[in-house]
Amino acid sequence: MNITIVGSGFGGVKAALLLAKNKKNNITIITNNSDFQYYPGLYRVATGYTRKQVWVPLTEIFDHINNVTVVTDTILAIDKTQRRLLGESGLGYDYETLIMALGAVTTYFGIPGLDQFAYGIKSASEIKRLHDKLHSEFMVGGKLDAHYVIVGAGPTGIELSAALMNYLKDLRKHYKLTDQKLEIDLIEAAPRVLPKMSEATSAKATKRLQKLGINVQVGKAVESATAEGLMVSGQPLESSTVIWTSGVANNPFYKANEASFSLAKNGKVVVDDYLRLEKDIYVIGDNAATAYSGLAQTAVRDAVYVAHAITEFSKHRTPAPYSAKLPPVVVPVDEAWAVFEWRSIRLSGGLASLIRLAADFVGYSDILPFGHALKIWRNRRMKDTAYYGPTEAN
Ligand SMILES: Cc1cc2nc3c(=O)[nH]c(=O)nc-3n(C[C@H](O)[C@H](O)[C@H](O)COP(=O)(O)OP(=O)(O)OC[C@H]3O[C@@H](n4cnc5c(N)ncnc54)[C@H](O)[C@@H]3O)c2cc1C
Repeated sequence: MNITIVGSGFGGVKAALLLAKNKKNNITIITNNSDFQYYPGLYRVATGYTRKQVWVPLTEIFDHINNVTVVTDTILAIDKTQRRLLGESGLGYDYETLIMALGAVTTYFGIPGLDQFAYGIKSASEIKRLHDKLHSEFMVGGKLDAHYVIVGAGPTGIELSAALMNYLKDLRKHYKLTDQKLEIDLIEAAPRVLPKMSEATSAKATKRLQKLGINVQVGKAVESATAEGLMVSGQPLESSTVIWTSGVANNPFYKANEASFSLAKNGKVVVDDYLRLEKDIYVIGDNAATAYSGLAQTAVRDAVYVAHAITEFSKHRTPAPYSAKLPPVVVPVDEAWAVFEWRSIRLSGGLASLIRLAADFVGYSDILPFGHALKIWRNRRMKDTAYYGPTEAN
């Protein structure tokens, strides 16, 4: 069977690995990224740890698998009548069975200035831009920012706030600026941090953040951004380091090809009981309008399901319908402290942190062979000395 997968993230890579086990399948992955990106490790890379834990070259994953071909291109359009995808390169790609796994993108909800002045931590180039800013400030000016601001107190904002506090303290020591005050503000529009988790968990996370010295500001809306700072609920906040972790939206490919997809209110693709847009076109992970879409665990689960469904349909059997499953959520709020929630189970502290440790290993081994996953996982706390490079050279 010829199977085309668009996207090489959690969903795309996992589906390819599973479908490739049947040597009669020929799989083509079309992607605009030559690496698999392990998003849950981004906050660690942003705060000085090894880059190797986030970007794994696709060649390392697929070079030894003969029936998988990786093509680099950005897919811009789909022609369902011709069963063809159109790439930015000008090339067309015919498909028989198609899996769409394009992931989500950052959105600023139209707040003026944020796209220009805020920093992101969703890609290698965004993280480099943030590091360059932090280091040039410490080195050249010898002065800390008035406020380091993180907008959004969901899991990414929380884990980043805690890790950033430790990183900035390290930098302050490294650059011999310990006499200067360090202020981190975490701003959230909802009335509490981690608004999708329970109130009890939210309260514990808040207490921990405050213990770390982070100014937690909830119920505050960012209204605009300039090079000098933010306007937050009518009040100015001086900062030249605003990190935006707040908004994600479905990949713009779907809006651009709206005539070919049925989109839900949140912009995600409406799928049938088998995660299909229609016969032979599957939509998975962050792109599908399913109950727990937006999590890596859901994307992997979707991939496992479609690999099975495609096999079943090819044998003229009907698979059991897809059922969404609530994944556990664990959010680190310091190096050895986290909050965990799954159904009625709620944990906080060291034990939750150990669960996150195990979850990271499971995350890597979902995509990589055991030995490779173990190596990356074991080294994830290695400091990336390159980020201290310019001063080391002095
Ligand atoms: C900072 C951050 C931290 C996160 N932490 C966690 C966490 O701790 N736990 C958790 O469960 N989830 C986490 N998530 C969410 C998780 O990363 C996503 O839910 C998951 O990556 C979705 O998988 P996916 O396969 O749908 O998309 P992705 O993994 O995003 O993969 C999309 C792929 O499509 C490619 N692509 C995009 N557009 C095109 C195009 N037009 N043509 C060709 N290729 C294209 C991309 O390059 C990429 O390879 C986090 C997300 C972020 C941003």
